[in-house]
Amino acid sequence: MWRVRVDGGCIGSGSCAGVAPGHFALGADNRSHPLAPEVAPHEAVLDAVASCPVEAITVVDAATGEVVEP
Ligand code: SF4
Repeated sequence: MWRVRVDGGCIGSGSCAGVAPGHFALGADNRSHPLAPEVAPHEAVLDAVASCPVEAITVVDAATGEVVEP
């Protein structure tokens, strides 16, 4: 499993939710939030990481803690 985190640098561009609507959504605070804290590895999550203009999304391996992206 992957652990997905959006940090405080999110500027609410919405790119991640557009690229991976099954994994991210903008909240009332106009920041992105992962829909689930842990997800099965999925290409769309990596696409979302790549789409973020401020590199606010981090994906780590839930078992090892190793950084998957970026
Ligand atoms: S792409 Fe990055 S800046 Fe834009 S909403 Fe997602 S986490 Fe926030």
